Amino acid sequence: MHITDNENLRTPIVCVMGHVDHGKTTLLDRIRGSSVAAGEAGAITQHIGATEVMIDSIIERSGASGMKNNFIVPGLLFIDTPGHHAFTSLRSRGGALADLAVVIVDINEGFMPQTKESLQILKRFKTPFVVVANKIDRIHGWQPHESASFLETYNKQSERVRTDLDNKFYEIVGELYNSGFNSERYDRVSDFQRNIGIIPISAITGEGIPDLLMVLLGLAQKFLESNLHYNASGPGEGTILEVKEEKGLGTTIDIILYDGTLKKGDTIVVGSLGEPIQTKVRALLKPNPMGEISAEEKFQNVESVTAAIGVKISAPNLDDALSGATVRAASPENIENIVEEVQEELDEVQISTGTTG
Ligand code: GDP
Repeated sequence: MHITDNENLRTPIVCVMGHVDHGKTTLLDRIRGSSVAAGEAGAITQHIGATEVMIDSIIERSGASGMKNNFIVPGLLFIDTPGHHAFTSLRSRGGALADLAVVIVDINEGFMPQTKESLQILKRFKTPFVVVANKIDRIHGWQPHESASFLETYNKQSERVRTDLDNKFYEIVGELYNSGFNSERYDRVSDFQRNIGIIPISAITGEGIPDLLMVLLGLAQKFLESNLHYNASGPGEGTILEVKEEKGLGTTIDIILYDGTLKKGDTIVVGSLGEPIQTKVRALLKPNPMGEISAEEKFQNVESVTAAIGVKISAPNLDDALSGATVRAASPENIENIVEEVQEELDEVQISTGTTG
């Protein structure tokens, strides 16, 4: 297959990891909420189980509008479920579902057991990642500058505060070194293949978040181009985030579609506890941006969806579907092969998540 045009690079999928209470949820909330609060229409799209930050808004936020044409991915898709369990249990074709990761560390607390665990997992999966040193607003004497870039706010702090930040920062560099990674502040990294970029941020004030999004885009461009080629018109392929009972719909599955297009009426093969389920897509549902008025208006019914996207599938017989398993569209010609492959992939996920805990 010959794909050279940019339209065929899909949105990279990003997972946030790190120790409990270091700010994973707050960071995701901030990414979701800040654009809405700032009244930037179209800056983010809420998916089922994920949030997409659009490329234009990332570039605008970071003040680098001159670089617009340098980017070839449509944006970044953040999985709403943080943590390394989500990272390891969500797979695509044997690899991790997430293309990129953010490891969050409380700058005042430093490395903790789950920080190290996250790094080991990322090393094993060879997933490109950045580290964010969170809660810089907690540094004594910090003057917050809502949503500012890190360097802008850093340069406005007193010398004492800057020194304090630098000291805590270099402890993280030391810890990363002990875990086998060379790292540096993101703006001093010239080769992201050899050095991990660290971005000081505050998930509460939004400081440093424009830089984080820009660095993630840079990583995606540099390391993922080959992973992000996909076949937009090919059969849909995704991973189950959650199996969920919905009023009036019965059991549904929330998935991240990472390849192809899925259409209403498609025959799908769904990984389950027993034999893979064979069923037909009854409805494809996205969150209704105007919704939440009543249960019926919670979702918007669409005819088809193209990767990468988070979507809810309503279909018969989904009761035994398993989160972490694969969903694939099939045709009468290839359904037997696909059933076999879905089963194999499921065995792989169960073995590897079973052994890592
Ligand atoms: P998680 O367990 O990693 O998801 O951590 P949370 O996002 O739940 O954050 C734990 C606590 O730290 C909460 O009380 C947050 O409000 C707080 N927190 C998270 N990020 C920041 C930050 O940047 N600055 C400050 N001051 N507090 C933060």
